[in-house]
Amino acid sequence: MTSSSFGKLPDGTAIELLTLTNSKGMQAQIMTYGATVVSLTAPDKSGKYADVVQGMENLEGYLAGVPYFGAIVGRYGNRIGHAQFQLDGKTYNLPKNDGDNTLHGGVVGFDKKVWTAKTGDGNVEFTVVSDDGDQGFPGKLTAHVTYTLTDNDELKIEYVATTDKPTVVNLTNHTYFNLAGQGEGNILDHQVTLLADRFTPVDAGLIPTGELKPVAGTPFDFTKATAIGARINQQDEQLTYGKGYDHNWVLNGSGMKKAAEVYEPKSGRVMEVMTEEPGLQFYTGNFLDGKIKGKGGRVYGHRAAFCMETQHFPDSPNKPAFPTTELKPGQTYKTSTVYKFSAR
Ligand code: BGC
Repeated sequence: MTSSSFGKLPDGTAIELLTLTNSKGMQAQIMTYGATVVSLTAPDKSGKYADVVQGMENLEGYLAGVPYFGAIVGRYGNRIGHAQFQLDGKTYNLPKNDGDNTLHGGVVGFDKKVWTAKTGDGNVEFTVVSDDGDQGFPGKLTAHVTYTLTDNDELKIEYVATTDKPTVVNLTNHTYFNLAGQGEGNILDHQVTLLADRFTPVDAGLIPTGELKPVAGTPFDFTKATAIGARINQQDEQLTYGKGYDHNWVLNGSGMKKAAEVYEPKSGRVMEVMTEEPGLQFYTGNFLDGKIKGKGGRVYGHRAAFCMETQHFPDSPNKPAFPTTELKPGQTYKTSTVYKFSAR
């Protein structure tokens, strides 16, 4: 574990970059701005390491505006419809930063907060305190996110949060992966398996309709390994709304379970995702358009990366039938997700 400076915010706040290295040589770099994964290396089938996540060369790159590259998103990852929800009979209004809706916690979400870092043995714990009323959410929320890089080539992310008033919370990590290496073309040849028999279809604003729809017979069926590009351009209302895949899958089973596996045929790299969360937002970088030049001058074009955001379902505060995202004083929000890398 080493720590170095990653620059300063315009107000002078220093941003630190923490580097975790495991016994095999895999490395993860995470900064205190947004508790953001800046780089993550993984070996290919010949043992050659490459950085498999999108990111920026320096802090200025992030401040210029990126779509949540590597960041922790919160308080409420994903969308809340009409930027509003009710809790205990009271209506809470949130900022609209995605059409009529709230995306990823509002205008100044957890991705734009400066977290404090506490380093441990092979891990680093980030903490942020969000005041009562921050971005319209009730309750002072204290969140801790611990990243651990294990000797089994796993990046483990543990989330803990507490509140002093009833509130809603849904934290996730928004890393953009390309297992061929960041900036190495699009991800359409990556083969994806999702351990999910259903997904949550959305309306044109990407808010779930409330239905849990079987994936069988649709382009959303990834129960068997399928190339991302195999059906992504099919005529399908849901794919049209998402401009590709940008949907929440309802994971099979409960507790800690395997959610996904991704295989990149040229490098042989494999990423498995295990999570305690009930859902997974599989997003195929449909909004990337080549305007952002990232690490090493790499241009991030259309579908240059994919995200696997483990989460509670979008708009849960307005969908009583979905698993609850409410957190009360005295309760502890606790969840974890593991991204495991190998090659074959
Ligand atoms: C959302 C996308 C959005 C992306 C980056 C994803 O979690 O589902 O619609 O474009 O984040 O902002």
